[in-house]
Amino acid sequence: MAITGGCLCGAVRFAIDADAPIGVRQCWCRVCQYLGAGSGTVNAIFPKEAVTVSGPLTDYVATADSGSTMHRRFCAGCGTPVFSEAEPRPHHIIVRVGAFDNPDVVRPAAIIWAKSAPGWACLDPNLPQTEGQAPPPSQS
Ligand SMILES: [Zn+2]
Ligand SMILES: [Zn+2]
Repeated sequence: MAITGGCLCGAVRFAIDADAPIGVRQCWCRVCQYLGAGSGTVNAIFPKEAVTVSGPLTDYVATADSGSTMHRRFCAGCGTPVFSEAEPRPHHIIVRVGAFDNPDVVRPAAIIWAKSAPGWACLDPNLPQTEGQAPPPSQS
């Protein structure tokens, strides 16, 4: 199975050669609230070598609340956040699930940065929550 996706305007496309992600998490850190226009983001982690990308991405480099240097890659044409990468984990790529052609192929398994979520946020009570950053899934 390949998971496919791209940005809103279609300039950026990607294909992921993997049956399932290493992990899927919803993140409510303040940066994700900017990216999600108020909501948190849903992010699927894959081995970097599984992902093939075409099209131009702009890289916004900044330090995350966790202290890691993050590369947040987006389409400059339409602004869609597509990937992020943390420098301490160069073998992983984090894919924004909103950019999937079918976001229903994955499901969040945990919520991180719950303490930053606004009071009106809907956090699934059935999912484990971490107040701040959680360690990445140990696999690979
Ligand atoms: Zn675009
Ligand atoms: Zn976040």
